[in-house]
Amino acid sequence: MAYRHLLLATDFSQAGTHAATRASDLARRYQAELSIIHVVENLPLLDSSFGPTVPFDAELSDRIVAAARNRLAALADQLGIPEQRRWIELGSATAEIIRVAREQEVDLIVVGSHGRHGLGLLLGSTASAIVHHAGCDVLAVRLPG
Ligand code: AMP
Repeated sequence: MAYRHLLLATDFSQAGTHAATRASDLARRYQAELSIIHVVENLPLLDSSFGPTVPFDAELSDRIVAAARNRLAALADQLGIPEQRRWIELGSATAEIIRVAREQEVDLIVVGSHGRHGLGLLLGSTASAIVHHAGCDVLAVRLPG
């Protein structure tokens, strides 16, 4: 079976760079489409239970998302991924990656085996959750060494 649509999930960590090279290489071999996603987690959102003393800093949130968009664009440009296949989402990384994969009919999700959360684990927490819950194949690319 040949894969037709790969989704590279990146958190911009070192393992992510390694996974990016692998995803791009596989997409070329399979002559498959390659999409890319980054999920912005932990935005400083208003929690109304704290009351009006905690302001919702919309400007800071916008700046964080814009910075993520720029980093994603730089990586996507390097990999030759067109604008319509670049995804910046907000929320839970696992849930958003799985949702976009399902909606875009992705048949292989490529992640780093470790990222920002997972060092020291056999498989990082995001990588592990995606393997458990995705409706398609998942490739967890190991960091060299
Ligand atoms: P972790 O399990 O969180 O250590 O990360 C493992 C891999 O999951 C990373 O190398 C990325 O491929 C992916 N990943 C983790 N967090 C994100 C995120 N916020 N957006 C997109 N991909 C992510």
